[in-house]
Amino acid sequence: ALKVTALRKSYGAVDVLRGIDASIAQGEFLVLVGPSGCGKSTMLNCIAGLEETTSGTIEIAGRDVTNLPPRERDIAMVFQSYALYPTMSVRENIAFGMKVRGIDRDVQRAKVEEVAGLLQIGPLLDRRPGQLSGGQRQRVAMGRALVRDPALFLFDEPLSNLDAKLRVEMRAEIRRLHQTTGASIVYVTHDQIEAMTLASRIVVLDGGVVQQAGTPAEIYDAPANTFVADFMGSPS
Ligand code: ATP
Ligand code: MG
Repeated sequence: ALKVTALRKSYGAVDVLRGIDASIAQGEFLVLVGPSGCGKSTMLNCIAGLEETTSGTIEIAGRDVTNLPPRERDIAMVFQSYALYPTMSVRENIAFGMKVRGIDRDVQRAKVEEVAGLLQIGPLLDRRPGQLSGGQRQRVAMGRALVRDPALFLFDEPLSNLDAKLRVEMRAEIRRLHQTTGASIVYVTHDQIEAMTLASRIVVLDGGVVQQAGTPAEIYDAPANTFVADFMGSPS
């Protein structure tokens, strides 16, 4: 579903990504971890097309999208801050992307109901974002991504604004969502526990390069170097 080859990204003289190779198969849940400032969001933004790459290629669903704008990449992104439209109802927030693309109203309605069922926000559809808890808002943001049915989901620390209890609940929710939809996901977090519980594969990023890539078990049982061992061994 995704293939990143020799990806480099510099801001002026600062080389943030220094040659990243990563790929995920259809249905895989890749978690990108690493310390603050290591370039996780930068990598995700390059995949999404929100940042221009300095060099390297990005393929999504077998298509070279390196030079395509975000809307032509068949991706949906969920951010740390939910950025919902405050004056629209939950239903309108979720349906907005479909409305903009001129999708039939009945299809919109059915899709919203389906996704609301998956996310257990059916009873909240007529509320406005201001009348929701943080966790409920994040569910709406996920709903907005889900209705688009993209080839690839990109999550940038979607749970980091939630309290510890809700984070654990939402983790289970995201895992269930992945299992029922079979979606391909790249998920950024700096939380090692989150990485271990969600990932089918983990990529550990530091110093602009991939320090290790593997299953949670591989990384936990056989860290490739002291950085990975220290980082994965000391959950924040
Ligand atoms: P966090 O876990 O804190 O979100 P991150 O791994 O997502 O961190 P990035 O946001 O990708 O880190 O930033 C990587 C590096 O690139 C940082 O040193 C940051 O200061 C730098 N950076 C990010 N965006 C820009 C920009 N627009 N101009 C210059 N430098 C930038
Ligand atoms: Mg970030």
